[in-house]
Amino acid sequence: MELVLASNFDPALVDRTRELPVTSYFGSFPRSLTGGGRPPYILPEVDEERFRAHVRGIHQAGRKFYATVNTSDLGLKEYGPGYLESFDREIGRLIELGVDGFVVAVPLLLRRIRRAYPDVGLTVSSFARIRTVAQGEYYLKMGADTVVFEEANRDLKLLAGLVRAGARVEVLVNQTCIHDCPYRFHHLNTSSLASQNGTQGPWFEFPILQCGLEVVRDPAKLVAGVFVRPEDLHVYEEAGVDRFKVSGRNRSTDWLVRSASAYAARRWEGNLLDILSYVQNLGPRSALRRLAEEGKDPSVVGPLAQGFDALAHLEIDNRAFPDGFFRRIAATDCARTSCAACGYCAGVARRVVRINGSPLSSYQPPDALPDPSDLLEHFGSQEA
Ligand code: SF4
Repeated sequence: MELVLASNFDPALVDRTRELPVTSYFGSFPRSLTGGGRPPYILPEVDEERFRAHVRGIHQAGRKFYATVNTSDLGLKEYGPGYLESFDREIGRLIELGVDGFVVAVPLLLRRIRRAYPDVGLTVSSFARIRTVAQGEYYLKMGADTVVFEEANRDLKLLAGLVRAGARVEVLVNQTCIHDCPYRFHHLNTSSLASQNGTQGPWFEFPILQCGLEVVRDPAKLVAGVFVRPEDLHVYEEAGVDRFKVSGRNRSTDWLVRSASAYAARRWEGNLLDILSYVQNLGPRSALRRLAEEGKDPSVVGPLAQGFDALAHLEIDNRAFPDGFFRRIAATDCARTSCAACGYCAGVARRVVRINGSPLSSYQPPDALPDPSDLLEHFGSQEA
């Protein structure tokens, strides 16, 4: 097993994961020319000196560091004169700082890096949204060596097909994104554009609020999501995948060590949300709290905040999952099946989800929630 672990640029992270099978870390400056996969306001501030020292510490521990250049949208700036030359300089600066590889989504950028650096590691980001073997093969031909999966995590035939095509497949295991999320493309582009140099705002990513409301209406959606339990890694290994990515660049060192340790041990005896991202609740609750304090749209903010507050203490008991949970989902054609008609994940959710210590069956979702779109303009300024 290889773990690919998010870095928060804390030197203690490298020391505290020395005994784990971490082969590489990944991260970035909060802002860059291209932007990347996380908005700047959630990432640690890091200057060149700290970046270089962190990468040096990683090398001393015998591991590698990948820089995330994984924007899904360049905001049309790529058509401007001199853009690609600036990109070349930025990549050159990262190489000079010691990075061993790059995580990239846009083919234009991937080719450009490969052209200049024939031997550098090149990973296709989950932001490329690969859903077929043919898509993956295009990237391999462009010079990528590794492909990351997140949305299609449970499509074992696809992953095995890519392994056969020569890709090193990496599976992102600890995100709580909902199954076939309709807000995803907007979210990826929001993160990408928000982290580009010179962009103003937003201070909160609206698609997370929309995704969170799906969970407020139906918490079983968490169980049908893209996460992988530590106990199920062996199913991937049978398909030829042994590289697992643990995200959390905005998390504390304690949190990252806990999550990586659980996956290394292939077992977690507690609340699964203690090792998964669970972005759907914390962010929206604090954003709505801020709007409430500012007196913005109380008729919308109030009921939405109540809906999110009701799920503040949600637990997914990892010990209560039925045997064969992952194999059962992997054997279902989820992309062509209605979850309402299938009902498997909802049944599992009734076993494993507790809200404020009570079973899911006692949870009453709100009857009607206001449309959150009126709040969008309030998230648009970067002043935080
Ligand atoms: S189709 Fe069934 S197994 Fe697949 S995600 Fe939906 S409820 Fe779960």
